Amino acid sequence: MGSATTPGMHMVTPNPCLPCSRRMYMSCTANFGTESKLAAWKRLSSFSHISLRQPFFHSFSSEPVKLNKAVIQAVSGATENNPVAKLPIDLRGKRAFIAGVADDNGYGWAIAKSLAAAGAEIIVGTWVPAMNIFESSLRRGKFDESRKLPDGSMMEIAKIYPLDAVFDNPNDVPEDIKTNKRYAGTSNWTVQEVAESVKQEFGSIDILVHSLANGPEVSKPLLETSRNGYLAAISASSYSFISLLRHFAPIMNPGGATISLTYIASERTIPGYGGGMSSAKAALESDTRVLAFEAGRKHKIRVNTISAGPLRSRAAKAIGFIDKMIDYSSANAPLQKELSAEEVGNAAAFLASPLASAITGSIVYVDNGLHSMGVGVDSPIFEQLDIPKDH
Ligand code: NAD
Repeated sequence: MGSATTPGMHMVTPNPCLPCSRRMYMSCTANFGTESKLAAWKRLSSFSHISLRQPFFHSFSSEPVKLNKAVIQAVSGATENNPVAKLPIDLRGKRAFIAGVADDNGYGWAIAKSLAAAGAEIIVGTWVPAMNIFESSLRRGKFDESRKLPDGSMMEIAKIYPLDAVFDNPNDVPEDIKTNKRYAGTSNWTVQEVAESVKQEFGSIDILVHSLANGPEVSKPLLETSRNGYLAAISASSYSFISLLRHFAPIMNPGGATISLTYIASERTIPGYGGGMSSAKAALESDTRVLAFEAGRKHKIRVNTISAGPLRSRAAKAIGFIDKMIDYSSANAPLQKELSAEEVGNAAAFLASPLASAITGSIVYVDNGLHSMGVGVDSPIFEQLDIPKDH
């Protein structure tokens, strides 16, 4: 028997009686991922003060692990023989709405998991055309392995709302969308309607995450981008955050936090990231500062954005050169390891927590440090320099 999820229903724990072949496959994949992450963690912990004892990615081990929720820890000066006080990220009693989750590959999913691991209740907004496939995949247990949390429990999604963040209210929706078969059978998916539904069904939220972007002409150079393509990128990728904050802020508890996802193409030229997407990210970052002031004063809400390094998500694969960007990062970033979505998720959990209570209006880089480089050190120009490399 598999797990079942429908809007408004909790996901049930996975069936322990998976066919052996499938279990073995999952266990191999998980072990491979864990080993490389463990190596990366050891390297990291050797020059930073991060405890080796309970790394968060233990959740991805196929071995049973006994960890409590709220396990993400900042530990100062800890060694194996000299444990010190722990500073846990504790989001128990908090509720998060995460816009932009439609599979288990992207940053939205990873952020949901980290927030859930820290104890938050998770509500999700999924793009209307992706809703059916996401729900049916959840129901069929496709994400069961990646729903596992550090304490061995499964991430539960309290409710999945259909959402199209390009439309603020029903008056905005054009006829061709209303009659589009990908929108048939769903209703109340504009930003205002989703915020109203969340208010009716949950009362309030504490954390708002914007993990969505869309640029129909992303593969075109900016110089060849049409007005419509440019405006569509800004509408889906930047204004959508303003709209979400505007409609959700009235139901956010004071002390609440919002987080969006941005990319270094906003401030440095990244050829191939076109169609106005670089402009959309620049707008998102500028808006982060202004909205931090406005929402801070009016609602006591913090507004931050994470500038994330490259991840092989569905959206990034559609752009077409994500593998090369990951290779480039490994070759040139200060930390030579592939960025995992969990690292971004954990940073988001920190930013959403009271530990970050004085951080607002910030761009937080979670990219292995790539943003700090002025040159690509894999250029032949640097061949004679003895730059340490991880082969
Ligand atoms: P993803 O595919 O997991 O997430 C993008 C989501 O946006 C999808 O779930 C999609 O359905 C949703 N979406 C698109 N248009 C929408 C709309 N109108 N209304 C509601 N939802 C809509 O990919 P991801 O790469 O994890 O992207 C999440 C965020 O991270 C984006 O803002 C992206 O720009 C940012 N980011 C990604 C990378 C990367 O390399 N993947 C790097 C830096 C920043």
